Amino acid sequence: MIRPILRHGAGILHAEASPVIAFDKELETLIEDMVQTMYAASGVGLAAPQIGVGFRIFVADPSSGHSLDELITVINPKVLEQDGIQTEEEGCLSLPGFTDRVNRPSRVVLSGYDKDGSSIKVEGTDLLARVLQHEMDHLNGSLFVDRLHGFRKQKIVRRVRKLQRTGKW
Ligand SMILES: [Zn+2]
Repeated sequence: MIRPILRHGAGILHAEASPVIAFDKELETLIEDMVQTMYAASGVGLAAPQIGVGFRIFVADPSSGHSLDELITVINPKVLEQDGIQTEEEGCLSLPGFTDRVNRPSRVVLSGYDKDGSSIKVEGTDLLARVLQHEMDHLNGSLFVDRLHGFRKQKIVRRVRKLQRTGKW
């Protein structure tokens, strides 16, 4: 089932998500919904809080559904390693219409669990590293705009507030 994607300003997007404890049928359905919702929105990643569920789960696919074997699901992720630096244009399904250049490490290794509760390790470089860290941020209640500073951050926040005030968000 495709679920509505919450936007910047929704409380759950700005709060820390809780660890998953039960690896059950309900979790499986939630993950299926997340995958469907991500692909329907042509996204490369989606975290559970973006559909209003405050658990530490994200799905990612840097090919956005164009390749069958790039779909990644990580539950209760932890960063094991991070190195290098990359600066690229970044957007978010919860901030439609806004992008900016964000600094991120160029390589990351995460540990976590798959939907069956088996432990997994995921390594990403370049775009995948960016997506993995963007989704990790969501689980910690942070959006890409929170990584910007000064005028560049204010510009986006002000325009979002204006859209909210005028009921267009
Ligand atoms: Zn996002």
